[in-house]
Amino acid sequence: TKHVPFSSPLLRDAGYINGAWTSGNATGTFDVLNPATGELLASLPDMGAAETRSAIDAAHAAQPAWAARPAKERSVTLRKWFDLMVANADELAAILTAEMGKPFAEARGEILYAAAYIEWYAEEAKRIYGETIPAPSNDKRMIVIKQPVGVVGTITPWNFPAAMIARKIAPALAVGCTVVSKPAEQTPLTAIALAVLAEQAGIPAGVFNVIVGTDGPAIGRELCGNEKVRKISFTGSTEVGRILMRQCADQIKKVSLELGGNAPFIVFDDADLDAAVEGAIASKYRNAGQTCVCANRLYIQSNVYDAFAAKLAARVAAMSVGDGFTAGVEIGPLIDEQGLAKVEDHVGDALAKGAKVLTGGKRIDGAGTFFAPTVLTGVTRGMTVAREETFGPVAPLFRFETVEDVIAEANDTEFGLAAYFYAGDLKKVWRVAEALEYGMIGINTGLMSSETAPFGGIKQSGLGREGSRHGADDYLEMKYLCIGGV
Ligand code: ADP
Repeated sequence: TKHVPFSSPLLRDAGYINGAWTSGNATGTFDVLNPATGELLASLPDMGAAETRSAIDAAHAAQPAWAARPAKERSVTLRKWFDLMVANADELAAILTAEMGKPFAEARGEILYAAAYIEWYAEEAKRIYGETIPAPSNDKRMIVIKQPVGVVGTITPWNFPAAMIARKIAPALAVGCTVVSKPAEQTPLTAIALAVLAEQAGIPAGVFNVIVGTDGPAIGRELCGNEKVRKISFTGSTEVGRILMRQCADQIKKVSLELGGNAPFIVFDDADLDAAVEGAIASKYRNAGQTCVCANRLYIQSNVYDAFAAKLAARVAAMSVGDGFTAGVEIGPLIDEQGLAKVEDHVGDALAKGAKVLTGGKRIDGAGTFFAPTVLTGVTRGMTVAREETFGPVAPLFRFETVEDVIAEANDTEFGLAAYFYAGDLKKVWRVAEALEYGMIGINTGLMSSETAPFGGIKQSGLGREGSRHGADDYLEMKYLCIGGV
């Protein structure tokens, strides 16, 4: 049975500024739609720069008192927020599936994954250790303390409406920062629901603010240009990441960027092929291929190419596509028409240049923005799928001969987020893992994200890491104290 999310106790048709649900001065509204059906879920105030400024003022005023609380108090509050998320996981997942489209089981998984970041940083809040340094002379003592950077602006995308926010808010709040958060215009309802629970958990007014609106550039300019904001944390496209980094240059504002990927997924001929097929399914088709760590280019060694292609295509042809609320559905709709058009364009380009469709290959007629899960063979480097993130359920299979060749091909991109490979030989595993220019490498697995591990990219895939003990560093300043005349 379908939930009716806009009647959920976890929703408000407003933004959240200084502990109040408000439209600010917004006069217009914008619609949030269900991508599986096209139905209207909610109309929200279209907030912009003025409301963002009010939220920044609130976050700035609230920050010193929040930072002054003992770490354990912040920890306990975050822990309550985590508990509320777990207790409300089904309701949150229903909101997420309704506005974003991913299958309900996947949405529930995302809610628990998002909550895990809040739990993790509730724990880490108590472990923000400094250091003492042996001084070069006996009359001095040298100490390093860690302090919160201050007000943080976050801008997040629609593909993980809960997790992308939690990954930023959790470490920020844990160490004593306050936050102004701008969720994607396609998926603001999950962010609103998280703020409702944050309020219930006792997170004080002004500490966590949510601005909902469609004018990303205006909200972004205010966040980057306002001197009260000390740091921007963004997840989204490399193109927008570049704009934000430029806008932050004037004030040398700190930035954390989690940007696009173009993940290679390599299958060597000594791999366990069945395991590699399962890994490819997990890495490629999760979230209908709409994750920044999704396998984008699959490189299969020549003598196992046909066997792998046949096994993968059989598995993909059997996948169930539909409304995320229907039991057993593995592939939901793409987020919108624009997302669908990009996938059609990539497949069309590949076919025009000689690729073949083993299964899928086209959009599914009817309501909603569905694309049939697809496997393409005979894919070569001149095709768009080799260069750009497809962000859809399309697996393009490239053929390779040697280890050297595939490493060169895999690294031939400006991106460096995630890479995957399947191999048996231990020496090869080490050599390939070290040679791939990526921030994260899945070896004989298609799934590697965890709140316990550092998530992030190199090259043009970003700056900084989220999750793990390292994730707190992005929200902390180091201060060196030198005491003389001791
Ligand atoms: P995607 O392709 O995943 O939608 P975007 O980078 O376009 O990725 O969007 C990610 C987030 O960035 C969204 O919240 C969007 O509203 C916001 N955004 C888009 N353009 C800008 C901009 N110029 N400045 C600030 N934020 C922006």
